[in-house]
Amino acid sequence: MDDTIIDNSPVAFYSCKLTGEITYFNQSAVKEWGRKPVLNKDVWCGAYKIFHPDGTPLPRKDHPVVKAINNRIFDQKTEVLIQREDGSFHNLLLMPQPWYDTNTNLIGAHCYLVNGGSYGKNHVKQSILSAIVESSDDAIVSKDLNGVIMSWNRGAEQVFGYTEAEAVGRSITMLIPEERLEEETIILKKLRKGEKIDHFETIRKHKSGKEIAISLTVSPIKDHNGNIIGASKVARDITPQAEAQKALKKYSENLEVLHQIGKSVTQILDVETILKRITYVTTNLTNSKLGGLYYQYKSSNGQSSNYFTGSSVEQENIPKLKSLFTSGQGIFTQKKVLRFNTIKTKEGSPEFSFVKQLDQHFNLGSLMLVPIISKSGTVTGNLLLGHGETDHYSSDDELLMMNIARIASISLENSALFEQVKSLSEKKDEFIALASHELKTPLTTVMGYLQLLSKLESDSHTKMFVEKSLIQAEKLNNLIEDILNMSRIEKGKLHFNIDSFDIKNLLKDITQTFSHLSDNHKIETILCDNPVIIEGDPQRIEQVILNLLTNACKYSPEADKVEVKLEDLPTKVIIKVKDYGIGLTKDQQNKLFTRFYRAEGVEGISGLGLGLYLTKLIIERHKGEIGLTSEYGKGSEFYFSLPKNLKESSKILKEEVKIS
Ligand code: ADP
Repeated sequence: MDDTIIDNSPVAFYSCKLTGEITYFNQSAVKEWGRKPVLNKDVWCGAYKIFHPDGTPLPRKDHPVVKAINNRIFDQKTEVLIQREDGSFHNLLLMPQPWYDTNTNLIGAHCYLVNGGSYGKNHVKQSILSAIVESSDDAIVSKDLNGVIMSWNRGAEQVFGYTEAEAVGRSITMLIPEERLEEETIILKKLRKGEKIDHFETIRKHKSGKEIAISLTVSPIKDHNGNIIGASKVARDITPQAEAQKALKKYSENLEVLHQIGKSVTQILDVETILKRITYVTTNLTNSKLGGLYYQYKSSNGQSSNYFTGSSVEQENIPKLKSLFTSGQGIFTQKKVLRFNTIKTKEGSPEFSFVKQLDQHFNLGSLMLVPIISKSGTVTGNLLLGHGETDHYSSDDELLMMNIARIASISLENSALFEQVKSLSEKKDEFIALASHELKTPLTTVMGYLQLLSKLESDSHTKMFVEKSLIQAEKLNNLIEDILNMSRIEKGKLHFNIDSFDIKNLLKDITQTFSHLSDNHKIETILCDNPVIIEGDPQRIEQVILNLLTNACKYSPEADKVEVKLEDLPTKVIIKVKDYGIGLTKDQQNKLFTRFYRAEGVEGISGLGLGLYLTKLIIERHKGEIGLTSEYGKGSEFYFSLPKNLKESSKILKEEVKIS
């Protein structure tokens, strides 16, 4: 063959070896490919990229030249799509011919290329798009403006159950549940206006009649003149997501319910109220016809208390429900929820006779019996819920009720315990009041005789013993008085006799008397010149000052003085008692005014830890304030204020005083 003829031939031609390397190409082939391949380097074809005619990738094994050589089948015309380097696509017919050496051994192929016309990128895009549509899991459907289905992909077959043949030509309304037909009118209206509907979550009908949750995107289809000729519809089956969302919603609603119930019952410390609330809430939450809660609390000493509350749409049912519960065999001890979807089931179970009785009286269709399980794991109560219809309760109800029962159990245990502690504490307070009262009566007689004796006795030795006994008896008397005052003040029975008096005078008298009694401490006073009149109970104020003075001396055994100061301000007075004694740490200062508190290290000093507690209560009842500054190891200064015009400053207090 004359190479120049082939070189300049209008027929595109090239040769390649058995291994693909191109060994020759003519000018026309370069024109078709749009490029010059590199000889002995480029293989099988000189095109920039090569595809199947539909635009899908062409694997090496499917290349027409490879196939011809491998199968020894030549002279076939195969259509391929090539892309040139400028991005344009062209259709080519490729015709491989065998290439033999002189010994007729196959050594490669001579290939002819025939131009099949050029395509824009759109052709490929179109092919790719249709491939995407076909392989999509989403339902992709097109319809005209009357809602008639025009195309239907494989995804649509899967989502809606109809084949393409069954769907095309029918109205899209076959997929819409009757109560939602209105939606299609709205959709079509929007489409006609050229608007798109994005991710619209709705319900559609499967061929089987089952409803499916879908997310819908509908876009108008326009012709090349921009006229709207129909709509494309992409529907995604979101049933699993919708169900998960529903479950999540239900779950978070339940959590909220539990949180609210927990919040409301944990603050209650009264068993009856908790029972009522739990019964009411559970009956309402489950839409029950009647509910009841039977609870039994056994204290550590074996004492047990029974409680019952009922809740019903028909109030007259409650006493009957109570009698059925309380006259029965007590608590059902099964630790799981018993759910009777119909009362006829589970015959023979221990609870069945009870359930049957309930049914006889209340005509129930379904019932739930939820155990209340204590911290220690024993069943302490039963929550009962009943409904007139069968299958009323679901496993969700069961779970929710079980969780509520858990909350109820904790709160009930706490409040039952609290009630017992409260009644014990009341008994203890009564005992203290009674005991102190009983102690006081003989002590007063003893003190009377001792006083008489100290006056009559002339022997100085004996007189000293009697006086020492008298001092100790008075101390004892003060302690008993403190205890009595505590129980009186806590019951609101401490009497206050409000009067106007000169606090300066009172302070002077107290400090003078106290100076005589104190052996080791000098009482230094800074008082005002003029009388300072205030309103209050002088006897109680005296008690306060004496307590602070006694403490100041008691807790400064190494010191030799205590300072007392009166400050006269326009509306109030401030009294300060300062010592140079053991002082108090910050932590001790915080606990100081609580009942029976005594700081560490004062065990050798007599006291009950009641004085400051009472002092604070008395000052507060006078609408004053009490506080201290103290440094551990250096000393303390206690101060309190009293309003001058008590009656004016506190009408409420007057009321209190009257009542007490
Ligand atoms: P009591 O003195 O009978 O123990 P109080 O209620 O008067 O009870 O005081 C409570 C506690 O406060 C005392 O036990 C003591 O530890 C501490 N305390 C009170 N006054 C002083 C003080 N002036 N200095 C140091 N500690 C004091």
